[in-house]
Amino acid sequence: MDFEYRYSSEQEVFRTEVRDWLNENVPEGITNPLDNAHTDRETFLWIKDFRKQLGAKGWLYPTWPTEYGGGGLTGDHDIIIKEELEKADVPGTDASALFPAAAAVWGTEEQKQQFLRPTLQGEIALWQLFTEPGAGSDLASLRTRATKDGDDWLINGEKVFNGSKFGYKLGDDDNGDVHEEFDEMFTLAITDPDAPRHRNMGYFIIPGDAPGVTTQTMDLLSGQGKQQIYLDNVRVGNDRLFGGETQGWQVAQTTLELEHGGGGQLVPRNHAVEQMLQLARDTGAGQHPHLVHTLMDAYIDNQILRLIGLRNYWMYEAKQEMSYHGSQNSLWRKESALRTADAIREVLGLTPLLNQDDPKAPFGGALETHQRESLVGAHPGGTIEVQKVIIARRIGVSRTRERAAPTPSTAKS
Ligand SMILES: Cc1cc2nc3c(=O)[nH]c(=O)nc-3n(C[C@H](O)[C@H](O)[C@H](O)COP(=O)(O)OP(=O)(O)OC[C@H]3O[C@@H](n4cnc5c(N)ncnc54)[C@H](O)[C@@H]3O)c2cc1C
Repeated sequence: MDFEYRYSSEQEVFRTEVRDWLNENVPEGITNPLDNAHTDRETFLWIKDFRKQLGAKGWLYPTWPTEYGGGGLTGDHDIIIKEELEKADVPGTDASALFPAAAAVWGTEEQKQQFLRPTLQGEIALWQLFTEPGAGSDLASLRTRATKDGDDWLINGEKVFNGSKFGYKLGDDDNGDVHEEFDEMFTLAITDPDAPRHRNMGYFIIPGDAPGVTTQTMDLLSGQGKQQIYLDNVRVGNDRLFGGETQGWQVAQTTLELEHGGGGQLVPRNHAVEQMLQLARDTGAGQHPHLVHTLMDAYIDNQILRLIGLRNYWMYEAKQEMSYHGSQNSLWRKESALRTADAIREVLGLTPLLNQDDPKAPFGGALETHQRESLVGAHPGGTIEVQKVIIARRIGVSRTRERAAPTPSTAKS
């Protein structure tokens, strides 16, 4: 069966426009780094500026409405833009992708102009501050508090694993640490400790430079960059509360619906699988019939992920009601990444474990990065087990039933 999508002549004309613009505007040598630690400050500043240029053209969030800073374009344009950006291997284009949906569904008109517009225009970067040391999978157990102080809120608490792969390596004078940059942070905090679970928290957006915010870099298997964040009497105005005072859980579900994959995924390439196939061909590894099957399984595994992503994209664009679909995408993405990592080691042996500092590392260490990221990637936005729980609740085989949260696709405007 041929699953390939055929492009129309109009799409191909638009592709040429995008490609020409990228050729003119992306300097030689700019590539998506394996790790923030490989980006220097100069390149990072270029990425920040490039995001604004893309935003101004409406190519950063192509299908979002122009009144809020999006491109007002169709899904057909979106697929071409994303494919060409991916081919050009430009970094930084997906920073801040998690905030817009919640802002669009739950924000007031003023909040949309103040926060959504600059996000869609690439002018600000945001971090998601949900997880806490004692609240990950069981997010509703979070302890960060927001207390009323006149017209303002004072926020106190601690968040972990925050960041957005949007930063650069500091000089050796600063221990060579990675500096992650952000302008705003969206977070959850208990506003009414006496109210029942899920009805007791608010969703706030906090300026990154607000007094009382301190950060500490975490050194994780995936590399540096994630932050532990302390909020000490951080003052924010009521205009920074999205949804009602105790509706934060519902607002966060919109964010998570998209984080799980409820908006779909357009760009079909899986670099690790392509690299594994190329190395297997070039080196003659994988000739044994068992390994041929391993290679074929990995290829099919990732084609299934591609099709789930495309199906969800189509459902989102067509305003179809979602159920298990987002979490199915997340579950397959996380599990197939682990299966692919196993297949890579099985077929290619230990070579893929050579890291970026080793001149013999294939693809500059990309496969070693994939090995680590496939493990770490099982956690963000809900673990494999949590995705299974959500699917069970949505297909009706759990004691608890739940429906998909509203997104800009399904929410009534
Ligand atoms: C690389 C990375 C990036 C991240 N980025 C962000 C970010 O930007 N913002 C943010 O807020 N958070 C972020 N996170 C945090 C992430 O959302 C949490 O790690 C995740 O939700 C799991 O929470 P936990 O780490 O506290 O593990 P726990 O909740 O303690 O879970 C530990 C283990 O128990 C299992 N488990 C827990 N409950 C159940 C259950 N009911 N049934 C079956 N199994 C269960 C889990 O699946 C897991 O295997 C990131 C994490 C990582 C690793």
